[in-house]
Amino acid sequence: MEKSKKDFNGLIVASIVGGVFVIALGVFYIFPNQILYALVAIKGAGIQLASVVLRHDFRSVAEIKSNYADAINTNSSLQTQKKVRILIVPGHEPGYGGSEYASLKERDMTVELGMYLRKFLENDSHYEVFITRDTEVWHPDFTMYFKNNWTDIAEWTKASREEFSSLVSLGSVARTVSTVVHNNAPKSVALRLYGITKWANENAIDITIHIHFNDNPRRNTSIAGKYSGFSIYVPASQYGNSSTTRVIASTIFNRLGKYNSVSNLKGESVGIIDEPDLIAIGANNTADSASMLIEYSYIYEPQFQDSQVSSLAIKDLAFQTYLGLQDFFDPSTSATRSLPDTSILPYEWSGTLLDYNSSGQEVYALQTAMMGDGVYPPLGKDKNDCSRSGGFGPCTRASLEAFQNKYKITGETGVVGKKTLVVLKGLDL
Ligand SMILES: [Zn+2]
Repeated sequence: MEKSKKDFNGLIVASIVGGVFVIALGVFYIFPNQILYALVAIKGAGIQLASVVLRHDFRSVAEIKSNYADAINTNSSLQTQKKVRILIVPGHEPGYGGSEYASLKERDMTVELGMYLRKFLENDSHYEVFITRDTEVWHPDFTMYFKNNWTDIAEWTKASREEFSSLVSLGSVARTVSTVVHNNAPKSVALRLYGITKWANENAIDITIHIHFNDNPRRNTSIAGKYSGFSIYVPASQYGNSSTTRVIASTIFNRLGKYNSVSNLKGESVGIIDEPDLIAIGANNTADSASMLIEYSYIYEPQFQDSQVSSLAIKDLAFQTYLGLQDFFDPSTSATRSLPDTSILPYEWSGTLLDYNSSGQEVYALQTAMMGDGVYPPLGKDKNDCSRSGGFGPCTRASLEAFQNKYKITGETGVVGKKTLVVLKGLDL
């Protein structure tokens, strides 16, 4: 993809001479995150060099917003019309990797969410959407890219590591450490992740969203773990794509947080986590696009254990992500949306009585509606205690009673009967 950028944030020539990285002093650039970088490499005169040019083009908030503004202009004769280019990366690989719980596979759930997200974005003319794979195969563009550029990806990755190490040793940036332990990816998987970043840089991607479902180490993996909720990993502050990512992540965070709990794992409970080591979001200063990795939930959470409830839950996680992007680009329009702020509502309940121990989509929709109305989770509980689970237990009963008190519904205490349904359907959410 040809880029018509008139300038870029920094040009760094990394020259590798017999494996030794040669640097010389240089020019100071101010990156969007106000970090000073100093690095210009020299080429040894007369020596045949294997050189890799590292070109950084970190997206600023203003640039991404200007692409959004350009996309509104539907004048088809306008050759310069841009859109916001979004790359969706379902976590892990076709048929390989990721967490598993009972019959659930994270690598397939991430595709399901990615496909929903793509659909929401594609229905909006501001966005041009790319996705790396489905459940079976890589998208042909990526298959070809990996095949034809494997050596380049490896060299670029190596040069990026060396450049970043040099910045650290020059004292220009600090190397920080992760607060949460991550699994190390096998070498080929890691290289494909770097390859996705390289592709995104070369294809002028503005925003990259990596989709994951979380798990936590525990002795018996056939029983659910004790943590729940979502978290968003963003590049640590020493990276050029850090500050832009953080701004976008915060609007997505706010949307996801309305209906979903934030992870209660120590280290993740801050919600948006600075992360220096995740390849996906630009470890070693590799990613130009605003890049975040969202752990949408823990895989063993109850809403994923029933396939029908799961599809509602996953669709809504995608929808909240889409709304979060809208909040970033167009907060005033987003705030005055007349439609419900969840894809679950309006919901057509069948009219079947719901009571204690009921489960399924109708209960999930009930929990969502009550959450929108402010009575779920019940008083004294948080969203980790009482998530939208799709199961009618103590949380739902307590909230339903509060809901019925609020709307003076009598004769149906603790169960969803006709009168309660009428009020539920009439909620203006
Ligand atoms: Zn994962």
